Amino acid sequence: MTLATRFAPSPTGRLHLGHALSALQAHDFARAHGGRFLLRIEDIDGTRSRPEHVAGIVQDLRWLGLIWDGEPVLQSARLPLYQAALDRLKRDGLTYPCFCTRADIAREIAESGQAPHDAAPVYPGTCRGLDARGRMHEPHAWRLDMAAAVDRAGPLAWTDLDAGPIAADPLAQGDVVLARKDAPTSYHLAVTVDDAAQGITHVIRGEDLFAATHIHRLLQALLGLPTPLYRHHKLLTGPDGKRLAKRTGAPSLAELREGGADPAALIEQLRSIPPRRGEGEHAQLPRELL
Ligand code: GLU
Repeated sequence: MTLATRFAPSPTGRLHLGHALSALQAHDFARAHGGRFLLRIEDIDGTRSRPEHVAGIVQDLRWLGLIWDGEPVLQSARLPLYQAALDRLKRDGLTYPCFCTRADIAREIAESGQAPHDAAPVYPGTCRGLDARGRMHEPHAWRLDMAAAVDRAGPLAWTDLDAGPIAADPLAQGDVVLARKDAPTSYHLAVTVDDAAQGITHVIRGEDLFAATHIHRLLQALLGLPTPLYRHHKLLTGPDGKRLAKRTGAPSLAELREGGADPAALIEQLRSIPPRRGEGEHAQLPRELL
């Protein structure tokens, strides 16, 4: 099978240097191995995704010279595939409908004594075992019954190119959402289906998604899909040592372009950052870009 990597941005804003590093990592890995570099637009979030941001992503990547193979794939055009995957998990008895609002979940978590400042509090399972007959006309999400799913799949592992073999431990993530109230799929389900459908052999993405890989490995097993190899690169941090983000003032690639930045020099600087997990605390922005 031909080696293939992907860059999978969500078009909810303009790309910044953190995205550029991620795209570059996936691009260079593919090119170094004679493989394919694919672009997937993760636009399932109908309220936050914008067509102008899709156009912006294309423009920014072209400006950087990171050219992908084939046509970009849009997740919004693939909803029946995610539905089929969800139906299979439903048929296997591994899902349940969830009627909770965000406020319900926050209250439950507070009452259960789970530390409220936990970065990603786990869903407390309120709707698991609920008799939902007569309520299915109400807005609801679908959740994975994680304990049942882990039981069904048995022990699983995946390989991280930097960290080596990792035992999958998705239980810690709780009953994750597979289909949202406002979208017929979730990030976890769509990404798992698409990485397989696009023949992705190496998933190269930021270390903020390391925990998600445990879930994706489980979904692969439940759906009979192959498991790629993974690399989770360091996230780019700004002068304050915090992860780059648009809301904390990271310049967008569009702003850098408009300010006259040289894309070739920028790429060279990004290439000089040691991006692997375990090598230093963060991938610091090169001085020239501060
Ligand atoms: N769409 C996700 C994001 O922009 C990335 C998905 C992935 O690389 O798995 O954060």
